[in-house]
Amino acid sequence: MTEKPKILYIEDNFDNQRLVQRVLGARGYEVMLAADGMAGVALARESLPGLILVDVNIPGLDGYETAARLRSMPHLRESPVVALTADVSPGARERALAAGCDGYLSKPIDPHQLPRQIAEFIAGRREFVPPPVETRVLREHHQRVVERLEQRVKDLTEANAALQEADRLKNQFLTSLSHELRTPLTSVIGYLDLLRRGTLGELNTRQSEALDVVQRNFMLLNRHVNNLLYLQEYRSNQLALTVFAPLHMVSHVLAEMKARAQHHGVEFVTDVDELAPLHGDPVALELVLENLLDNAIKFTPVGGTVTLTLRDEPSRLIIRVEDNGVGIPEEALEKIFLPFYRVDASLADTECGNGVGLALVQHVVRGHGGQVTVRSTPDHGSVFTVTIPKHQATNLDETLTPRSE
Ligand code: ADP
Repeated sequence: MTEKPKILYIEDNFDNQRLVQRVLGARGYEVMLAADGMAGVALARESLPGLILVDVNIPGLDGYETAARLRSMPHLRESPVVALTADVSPGARERALAAGCDGYLSKPIDPHQLPRQIAEFIAGRREFVPPPVETRVLREHHQRVVERLEQRVKDLTEANAALQEADRLKNQFLTSLSHELRTPLTSVIGYLDLLRRGTLGELNTRQSEALDVVQRNFMLLNRHVNNLLYLQEYRSNQLALTVFAPLHMVSHVLAEMKARAQHHGVEFVTDVDELAPLHGDPVALELVLENLLDNAIKFTPVGGTVTLTLRDEPSRLIIRVEDNGVGIPEEALEKIFLPFYRVDASLADTECGNGVGLALVQHVVRGHGGQVTVRSTPDHGSVFTVTIPKHQATNLDETLTPRSE
């Protein structure tokens, strides 16, 4: 027995799907189902159905548009496309044939007739409309398609405007939230400092230890708020450029990160050149360093190593942060610099982030006219390399993707 060709049935009605599948299945056909025009086109693209049955009244692309799209696929040249429709009004058949269908069957489906009709089309039956009628019907069909297209463009334009407005409101909210969080945080750090210095009275060992935990978590919270705040600000503002000695900034970050690495059971190795004064934004660059190191420590299991290398070359500063942690899958390497993107939240230990860090790193680095690159192998680790040129830094505005507002 020769193998029966596959039938693709594009139909959103479940009862009809079942009926056709049962009737044609009983005759040895394999019936593939698609519930709308786009899904049908996708299925037809990757398979070679011997015949395509398409209901005219389906969601998304309608049956006529779907048929026209199917007809444009060279590999389906020999596969008849048959319209199935409850529309028996005058002109419906001509419309289907002019749109590219090879035949037209009316609903309701007749289970006794269907196998024979299908077999006829597979054997070569084709229906045509006379050329003058076809021209007229095609013109009307084109007009309808253009009207639908016009409506779609209008809908999409409106949806886009609504999304832009929602994005603007979200940014506004994030900015005001970060500002509101910052004020109490500043007061907390002041009091923490007083307590730790013993200005408010001597602390016993247990109190000091408890305060260490508070301090560590406070620093974490502070970084998240700073990330959010700076990301929002840097998207619209320029960098605060100045000539500064990076040493102070670096030692400040190193002290914090050493404590963090120790807490995580990760070895922290530094190889830092003597650093000449730099023209840049010290606060922003501190965040760059903090975020790269924070990630490296966060995504490296106990016993691993994080290495920070700072090279002061005549024309550029190079920051390299290397870890032998969980690594990043290749397909995620591009996306990790998008705001709020995280590869897999479960990979990070309990101190989860908000996916803002690397977006901020990229904004700041580009704002300094530099670049950030990453190499990574899953389960072996990652290397982030930042290059900051020593010429005059550029405005952030010029380097960022245009904002919607
Ligand atoms: P997060 O707040 O989640 O750390 P980031 O923007 O800093 O946000 O990083 C985005 C994602 O990139 C992280 O969630 C993580 O999946 C991945 N990532 C960044 N740095 C590393 C690293 N050193 N090792 C493994 N994955 C990393």
